[in-house]
Amino acid sequence: MKDCLFCRIINREIPGKIVAEDDRSIALEDINPQAPVHLLVIPRKHIDRLSSLADGDLPLIGHLFLVANRLASERGISEAGYRTVINSGREAGQTVFHLHLHMMGGRAFRWPPG
Ligand code: AMP
Ligand code: ZN
Repeated sequence: MKDCLFCRIINREIPGKIVAEDDRSIALEDINPQAPVHLLVIPRKHIDRLSSLADGDLPLIGHLFLVANRLASERGISEAGYRTVINSGREAGQTVFHLHLHMMGGRAFRWPPG
């Protein structure tokens, strides 16, 4: 989608530190990491937020989590633990309106989140 930051990174119109990609998703290093490992797993399909998901998107969402699991394993944080987050909407803290799964690890996290 035109004017969407993540679509533009996916289409290589602007640079991003892409660490993995497949037919349905890309993963990139977050530009402002909140943990030693902070990756974003992003569907190639433009979906603006979690609440916009359609029934047909179910396999795609599951795929994003499997990619996150694999990347956590590759980064050596699978056993210690990692956090996955999808912010949906302004009050949740969503700033880029192209759905993405945060995968963060390499440090201990608190609960509840801020
Ligand atoms: P959210 O607040 O859940 O919408 O997450 C958006 C995330 O995208 C934030 O963690 C930002 O640091 C990250 N971000 C913004 N611009 C870029 C970029 N050009 N490359 C990589 N990550 C980005
Ligand atoms: Zn987009």
